[in-house]
Amino acid sequence: NPLTTVLGFLQLMKSGTFSPEKMNRFLEISMEEIRRTEQILSEYLSISKPAASLQQRLELISQMQAVVEVMTSYANMNNVALHVRCPQTPIFISGSTAELKQLLVNFIKNAIEASKDVTKGTVEISIREEPPHVVIQIEDNGIGMTEEQLNRLGSIYYSTKMNGTGLGLTFSYQAIRAMNGSVSVSSEPLSGTTFLIRLPIAEGVKG
Ligand code: ADP
Ligand code: MG
Repeated sequence: NPLTTVLGFLQLMKSGTFSPEKMNRFLEISMEEIRRTEQILSEYLSISKPAASLQQRLELISQMQAVVEVMTSYANMNNVALHVRCPQTPIFISGSTAELKQLLVNFIKNAIEASKDVTKGTVEISIREEPPHVVIQIEDNGIGMTEEQLNRLGSIYYSTKMNGTGLGLTFSYQAIRAMNGSVSVSSEPLSGTTFLIRLPIAEGVKG
């Protein structure tokens, strides 16, 4: 993580005598890493505040539509087609709107990023009811993952990306657990990945 880099440079500066140019370079890199840490923390803390974890009854399809609307420009930018298939009828679940939106963004963002370098990169999202659960499927035809990568999925700071944080799935898995849901994933290197998110349907009258 970025703090490890900063600590390393501080130790170097403490232990040796370096030219002013070298010292300056160490300071610049450290400041850049601290800026990156600041950004990561602000993103992470804004969504994991206890206040944001209030569970309420919310409607999944409309939240998904709002997220897809936001993510469509990101898909276009990366030359990836984004398709959605949802039931026409509302589906109610229990959770925090902010957390639900953030976790959907995280999965869809990863799927787009995995598909951006393949020909005809496509991300397909579908929602179906399998009472007592609703299943959200996010499928891409991107780079996929090896067995070893699959095993590390969701570990904090685990990222294979140049500017990745490795926080997206850690947060998402945690949020899904808080909603009494579960995640399963199947993936094949160079062929694609499918995430299945299962959430309990909220009891009570619909509408
Ligand atoms: P980040 O996106 O910042 O790397 P995440 O926690 O969102 O962090 O994801 C962790 C890692 O999981 C990614 O770096 C990538 O290696 C892998 N991953 C997640 N989703 C997919 C996907 N749809 N296809 C391939 N790899 C994925
Ligand atoms: Mg991510």
